[in-house]
Amino acid sequence: MRFACAVVSFLLAACGEPGAGDTDAQPSTSTTMSSSSGAESSAAATSAEATTDVEPSSGSDPTTDGTSEGTGPAVCGPAPDPSQPWIRAYTDDVVARLTGAAELTPGVTLPERSTSANRAATADWLQAEFDALGLQTQRHAYSATGTNIAGLLPATEPGGRTVVVGAHFDTVPGSPGANDNATGVAFVLSLARYLASIECRAHDVVFVGFDEEEIGLLGSDAFAQLLFDQGTDVIAVHTIDQMGWDQDGDRAIELERADEGLFEFYEAASATLAAPVTLHGTNTGFTDHVSFRPFGFAAVGLTEEFVSGDTTPHYHLPSDTYETVNFDLLVSTCVLGHAAFALLIDAA
Ligand SMILES: [Zn+2]
Repeated sequence: MRFACAVVSFLLAACGEPGAGDTDAQPSTSTTMSSSSGAESSAAATSAEATTDVEPSSGSDPTTDGTSEGTGPAVCGPAPDPSQPWIRAYTDDVVARLTGAAELTPGVTLPERSTSANRAATADWLQAEFDALGLQTQRHAYSATGTNIAGLLPATEPGGRTVVVGAHFDTVPGSPGANDNATGVAFVLSLARYLASIECRAHDVVFVGFDEEEIGLLGSDAFAQLLFDQGTDVIAVHTIDQMGWDQDGDRAIELERADEGLFEFYEAASATLAAPVTLHGTNTGFTDHVSFRPFGFAAVGLTEEFVSGDTTPHYHLPSDTYETVNFDLLVSTCVLGHAAFALLIDAA
């Protein structure tokens, strides 16, 4: 609880009262799980109960047989299937909006995300998206030019720790940044939407959109500093960068500098899947995961087969467009991520 509150304290001003975070989290989680189901257009950030979108596919939930409301303490149902039918349309929509293939918001189309105005529009949209998923959202304005967007999915059980999942949302000038890194943002949002549907959660999960990765990992470095300064008890930090190219169609991915237990974390999850994912460990840096180890946090980066050579030829170019993204790879990796994090946080 102490650590949960430490995280909440930067996300919410209301964390002064002992236990406030826990007591707030319990009823909201259990009630949103049993309400309406609107599977459409959650990416438009219109619904504050997007967690219910996943409900239709978890129809075998044993805790909701008929009229169980108000009959006693909530009973934890099992985590829903990691392979949710909405993942493809949802990630497709996110990548389209971020890359100018679709309007980000009505009347706003982004050709790239490097200017301060375009990064601000992206940050605002991401914040609204986190809000719509039911996360406790906060802007982390770490400098005059940079703003990370963080969203907390609080644990529902006491005594948990914190796991962090992030992706940078900025681009280099002149590139739509579909592969780099709208795909990573889509992974983060998909994971948030899925984990919010797990009724009983053992740990806090902090989702982050990092700003200014392309000019020196500035956002992730500032976020690592923040976690350190707050004494957050971090299990590990997972960052995703470039998850949209798979020329050979093998769905293999690379785990960059996986710290203790983190390769095995994904390996164990993959083994539970109907379509396991081949994992390759590499020693590649260059992206946000490297910001966290100097502060003592365990970290890992997820990416397409960058070292193996099955990686986008459109890197940092104007041709890094929505049309080049291999959504089979992105969806496959989202399913892996869902499975892995469910194993970590599901308290049922
Ligand atoms: Zn990148």
